[in-house]
Amino acid sequence: MDIDSWIMAHEAAVRLSFFVGVFAVVAAWEILAPRRRLRIPKAMRWTNNLGLVALNTLLLRLLFPAAAVGMAAFAARQGWGLFNYLDAPYLLGLAVSVVVLDFVIWLQHVIVHAIPLLWRLHRVHHADLDYDLTTGARFHPVEIVLSMLIKFTTIAVLGPPVLAVLIFEVLLNTTAMFNHGNLRLPRRLDRILRSLVVTPDMHRVHHSVEDDEANSNFGFNLPWWDRLFGTYRDQPRSGHEGMSIGIHGFRDSKTVQRLPGMLALPFRGRITGYAINRRDWSTPEDLETTDPR
Ligand SMILES: [Zn+2]
Ligand SMILES: [Zn+2]
Repeated sequence: MDIDSWIMAHEAAVRLSFFVGVFAVVAAWEILAPRRRLRIPKAMRWTNNLGLVALNTLLLRLLFPAAAVGMAAFAARQGWGLFNYLDAPYLLGLAVSVVVLDFVIWLQHVIVHAIPLLWRLHRVHHADLDYDLTTGARFHPVEIVLSMLIKFTTIAVLGPPVLAVLIFEVLLNTTAMFNHGNLRLPRRLDRILRSLVVTPDMHRVHHSVEDDEANSNFGFNLPWWDRLFGTYRDQPRSGHEGMSIGIHGFRDSKTVQRLPGMLALPFRGRITGYAINRRDWSTPEDLETTDPR
């Protein structure tokens, strides 16, 4: 059995093993060295956030049973994409593909903040009133499907090795749990790590209620894109203990922390201005004051 066939046969098991392993490590780390005091009972947030993860996993397996690695294998058979066309060294294709896939995810993240309709989907990720490892996996099912279609398109154009796609998926999953972790890291260690990977303190800035802070640090995995494209912000103004997490106008925990509320979130309120560069919160989707429910 060659490596590609092995990956195709074991992709789900490999990803699940990493998910469970990394989840356990980060969850234990959160108990031993928490960064902030959480506001909402953990049992409620975890049940609902992980319920959404289970729903998304099921949906993806039903819609795309072969997943992204299946798309890479299909592209290879068809001769689609740059690396299936060029005769590049395997390791070069592997490294470049992981970096390019990460850049596309970064770009997609900027786009879902910039386009009002897509921001409605993405605000499910931001509406969590606390910030811990389960926030990292909390996305609306429509955004998850959209994300997979963008990944498929990228794979068709890039033609990455099947292994690169598996490495990328596992890496993204691992770093998302790590950088959403409610983790206290020594400042010096954070500084060093930040040159290689997005750290919890770096991504937490992105979950601030403050508009300019939320529209910074779009990276999930590699930290370079934000520095390169001018969206990097070092720290939140109010500090990590003092900052507020979430979105203006969506502060009711009965809605934003429960699965039905999360699923309905994109369909609530009027379509308003761009989320990026929003400067006036007095005319927003101020739902808690205008919603008759
Ligand atoms: Zn975001
Ligand atoms: Zn996030």
